[in-house]
Amino acid sequence: MASKDFKVAIIGGGVCGLTCAIALTRLGVPVELFEAAPKFEEIGAAIGIGPNAGRVLQDIGVLEDVLAQARVPRLNQLTMCFISGMEGHEILYEYPGGPENMSLGIHRASFLEALEHRLDPNIAHFNKRCTAVNVSPGNPSRYILHFTDGTTHETDVVLGADGIKSVVRSVVTDEPSAAQIAFSNAVVYRALVSWKALQSAGIKTDLTVRPICMVGPDKHIVFVPIKNGEIINVAAFATDHHIPMGSANLTPGIPWLSDVSQEEALKDFEDWGPDVINTLKCIQKISKWSVHVVYPQLGSYTKGRVALLGDAAHAMLPHLGSGGGQGLEDAWVLAHLLSHPQTNASNIELVLEAYNRVNMPRSQMVWEASKSAGEKYHGFGGHGLTPDGLREDLHDQWSPIWHYDIHDSMQAAVQWLKETGVFS
Ligand SMILES: Cc1cc2nc3c(=O)[nH]c(=O)nc-3n(C[C@H](O)[C@H](O)[C@H](O)COP(=O)(O)OP(=O)(O)OC[C@H]3O[C@@H](n4cnc5c(N)ncnc54)[C@H](O)[C@@H]3O)c2cc1C
Repeated sequence: MASKDFKVAIIGGGVCGLTCAIALTRLGVPVELFEAAPKFEEIGAAIGIGPNAGRVLQDIGVLEDVLAQARVPRLNQLTMCFISGMEGHEILYEYPGGPENMSLGIHRASFLEALEHRLDPNIAHFNKRCTAVNVSPGNPSRYILHFTDGTTHETDVVLGADGIKSVVRSVVTDEPSAAQIAFSNAVVYRALVSWKALQSAGIKTDLTVRPICMVGPDKHIVFVPIKNGEIINVAAFATDHHIPMGSANLTPGIPWLSDVSQEEALKDFEDWGPDVINTLKCIQKISKWSVHVVYPQLGSYTKGRVALLGDAAHAMLPHLGSGGGQGLEDAWVLAHLLSHPQTNASNIELVLEAYNRVNMPRSQMVWEASKSAGEKYHGFGGHGLTPDGLREDLHDQWSPIWHYDIHDSMQAAVQWLKETGVFS
């Protein structure tokens, strides 16, 4: 196992920071993780693990734990079926299936729990909200992390996995963190509902077998079965496509998340079909999220020995269910590059630059594709919300994300390091 002459600090213990910490530890790189919350925690919702993300988890050696938490033997979630959101709920398009297109739908808390069990508890530090990352006055190649409790930590490499409101991002970009996020003009009403309750409410579409996306003008509603179909994750999106992204930003201080009445959600979907209306009527507690994204996209994910991963780097619209998966890819590539036998304290900056050269274009491609997917679901794809139109618009949309070999990223990064003479 590699023994390194540098230490890594990860800020943020969400799915990406936690995965990166596990991967680095397994590959023999000394790492400490600092999380603002008192424990690892996630919101009460589901997350979809696509085939590419599944392969990352498998390679890191945690897929079995995740599957066990989800109580399934393998990635077993079928591809999405697109249905009209209007009266009649006609099936419009079934995304092609097959073993290579299998995903996993899992409750976020279960996912985190599976990962948490694989982390050495001695490297996780809670109640550590990072407020600043400064160059060490005693050693300009090291950094001092400052926390709200007044403590500090000195390290060689900083990985910012601190989510969309990242503090670390401003170190990389020299811009205030808030200047690089925007309201996406999309709101989403989210809830977890039991299938029994939905059935009692008169839902006719079977929501237990595969993810369903009901589409219509300016809106769509996604149903993802978890816990073997006992629970349905509901996410109903409404978007204003008529204004540019970032032009309707919320006043600073206004929360992005609020509990809203059924009436408010129903008003947004008042002309939709019975399965949509009955679903919303069935939900007792509805959370409304103003979906924010990193925008404009960053020019770099790294500066010096500081690198961003996950939502800190590329928070995107969730319309392809792939933001977390891209963060897992970031974690994998960073861990493999930092643990590479030829990586040492003297070449880390260029090793992080290699990560940037490979992962930034890929995650930003997925960012663009996710935005475009929302436009297609809402009838702006160019071919209309008909079976033929959606087939034309959606037929291959997940291929570049799912059918990608993460080892190609590593190979490209190492190739660049060899070409520049950093690696032999
Ligand atoms: C509605 C919706 C549905 C989605 N569905 C999917 C899906 O199906 N599949 C998918 O792959 N992705 C999905 N995503 C995207 C996915 O949720 C995110 O990309 C992913 O959770 C990002 O993980 P992260 O670890 O980068 O950030 P986060 O999960 O935000 O974690 C950041 C962590 O850092 C901590 N932190 C923050 N600031 C500090 C600080 N200053 N100091 C220390 N700690 C700090 C936080 O407490 C938190 O624990 C969806 C997103 C939305 C909004």
